[in-house]
Amino acid sequence: MAPVNIQNIQKRFGQVKVIHDISVDIADGEFVVLVGPSGCGKSTLLRMIAGLEEVSDGEIRIGAREVSNLPARDRDIAMVFQNYALYPHMTVAENLGFALKLRKASPSEISAKVEKAAGILGLETLLDRFPRQLSGGQRQRVAMGRALVRDPQVFLFDEPLSNLDAKLRVQMRAEIKSMHQRVGTTTIYVTHDQVEAMTMADKIVVLHGGLIEQIGAPLDLYDRPANLFVAGFIGSPS
Ligand code: ADP
Ligand code: MG
Repeated sequence: MAPVNIQNIQKRFGQVKVIHDISVDIADGEFVVLVGPSGCGKSTLLRMIAGLEEVSDGEIRIGAREVSNLPARDRDIAMVFQNYALYPHMTVAENLGFALKLRKASPSEISAKVEKAAGILGLETLLDRFPRQLSGGQRQRVAMGRALVRDPQVFLFDEPLSNLDAKLRVQMRAEIKSMHQRVGTTTIYVTHDQVEAMTMADKIVVLHGGLIEQIGAPLDLYDRPANLFVAGFIGSPS
């Protein structure tokens, strides 16, 4: 776990500025949701935190470290995407353990960590299956498990539920929250779905056009929206 401090971040693609000036402080263990309409810059901001995209200006601190110039693998972050990107030719257990194997962890350490993650996510009976033999929700759990075994300081989620049907989406929200309660890892979660944001977040950051419209707890945004954009966005049916 670690706090994350994002200070005056900007991003240009060529001449086009897509993130204007974003600052957010995220406490140790907090579950923060970045929400906003499609194209507002959510994924770009998350990718800069992950180290998959360079910042044009500003600083990102994880714990005491300034990481904006570090490569992704040195940032101690794990990211979960919407297209789970599981390895099709590996079993669930192999998918879960692969990152540890790359880091030359011992077989006993790998199996202990894989078992622990499988226990937290309810994957114990699925360890010998291949991804094609899993449901959408089970695949999503494996993708989360792959992040979990690495025991990172920060989890990043980019619209992880958008490929699932409505019923499963509601169930997986609860599972992600329960995983967060079990492990307490600082989490930054991106969605365009305001209901998802309202039900999952400790703190919501509302983005619009590469800028922050408001930061607050779900009820603060609901009771005291800072402007018409926030009121309209939070108040609209999903
Ligand atoms: P969101 O995730 O909120 O839908 P993105 O962060 O993906 O938004 O995109 C924000 C803006 O940046 C969009 O206008 C998008 O077209 C632009 N953008 C994203 N990635 C690139 C890129 N690699 N090159 C140029 N423009 C990009
Ligand atoms: Mg996106």
